[in-house]
Amino acid sequence: MTQLDRPGPSDPLSVPFTPGMRGNPDELAAIPDEIAHARELPIEPTPTQEFTETWRNAAYNCFSSGHKFCREVCPVMQVTRNESWTPTAFHANVVAMDKGEMTIEEIASDYVNCTQCGACELRCPNTLFTGDFYRFRTRTVDVVKAVRAFAVESGVHQPAWQSWNERTEDRTHEPVLGETPVSQEHVRDWSDGLDLSIGGETVLFVDCEAAFYRTSVPRAVAQILQLAGYEFGLMGEQWCCGGPAAEMGYVDQAKRFAQHNLDNWRSTDTKRVLVLDPHDYISFTEDYPKYFGADFDIEVVLVVELFAALIRDGRLTPSVPVERTITYHDPCRLNKRKGIWKEPRQILRSIPGLDFKDIDRVTQWSYCSGGGGGLPIEKPELTAAISAGRVDKAAALEVDTLVSACPWSERPLGEAGQASNIDVVDLHELLAESLGITVGGSRNGGSEGSPA
Ligand code: SF4
Repeated sequence: MTQLDRPGPSDPLSVPFTPGMRGNPDELAAIPDEIAHARELPIEPTPTQEFTETWRNAAYNCFSSGHKFCREVCPVMQVTRNESWTPTAFHANVVAMDKGEMTIEEIASDYVNCTQCGACELRCPNTLFTGDFYRFRTRTVDVVKAVRAFAVESGVHQPAWQSWNERTEDRTHEPVLGETPVSQEHVRDWSDGLDLSIGGETVLFVDCEAAFYRTSVPRAVAQILQLAGYEFGLMGEQWCCGGPAAEMGYVDQAKRFAQHNLDNWRSTDTKRVLVLDPHDYISFTEDYPKYFGADFDIEVVLVVELFAALIRDGRLTPSVPVERTITYHDPCRLNKRKGIWKEPRQILRSIPGLDFKDIDRVTQWSYCSGGGGGLPIEKPELTAAISAGRVDKAAALEVDTLVSACPWSERPLGEAGQASNIDVVDLHELLAESLGITVGGSRNGGSEGSPA
């Protein structure tokens, strides 16, 4: 008797076979197509495991590529040359946590050193070369936000951020640095004398820095809208958008503030929100849709884009010459994060008298002011150094004025500008001047020039 003549074994898998071959025992077809049965892990998953599982792909994509091109466009790297504070390190740390080699306690403070400007993502070959094909984009900004949130969840706090967010919680607005009084009772003080209504289909949302410290910015915006005959109101009870809290890792607080604002818009039948601050624009177009999903049914309109359209349509015609030699500072959250760089230039080119010298890095590679991502709260010296670098670029163009469209960049840029004799002004205010509007309001949070 040969082996082939023997009766077959009862277990068809006990004999070697080639999948799909004719002549395989029929019983094989009945066996489910799986290699091994899943085994329950004997240990409970830890918060670190859950965190790294979520961010593993993003972090390993960077860690395994080793390009490091992003470092040269990173504003913090440009002034510190600290390898622990690069986009590369931010991803590598997540890999190290995944391997159990580092803890959130050991790395959390490194993640302060990021303005969340997004330059690294745009410079990354993983985004540049494969982005279109695979729809892949390196997600350093999201990774930094997520690590900061994980740190707060794990009870690891940065002292200045913790106290900043405690004060924001108490006052429903950011403390705005310095002695500026901030509270719900004063959130509409900037509009004194402008006769603005509350609520309605369209409302103007004013960020904390502009509402309490740079009150001339919202005054300029409101008066330009009135001149164009564009109907709008103010929020009944406006709280901070929550974006800065989310950037520093205080996500629960950010969500509560967002819920309050959404409820308030609904209570006044608001369908559309006008936004003058690029940081609010990111919150409303990126954070709020994540928090509320399809329930977030509010249209978000950036004032810069609206003004450019009103000028194109002939509803606004700047005619008073403004004799200045200027360049424009692209706010990171408009240009690098949202690709909005044409409309501010359209506004500037419509103002007679301006001699506009554009910066060499116009689009993706524009320079950061250092004013975002909570950096000025924990590391004001780094923000100051980054702003000084930005003003140096303006000085090289031999201008007398640097124009910005972001209230949060104006304070550090303005301070740096004093050393170089460069005036830092807001785009909306410049437009108001050319429209013949006397704006009023404060440029420094003090009583000088306060609302008329
Ligand atoms: S973020 Fe991109 S460019 Fe920077 S190190 Fe990682 S893979 Fe390289």
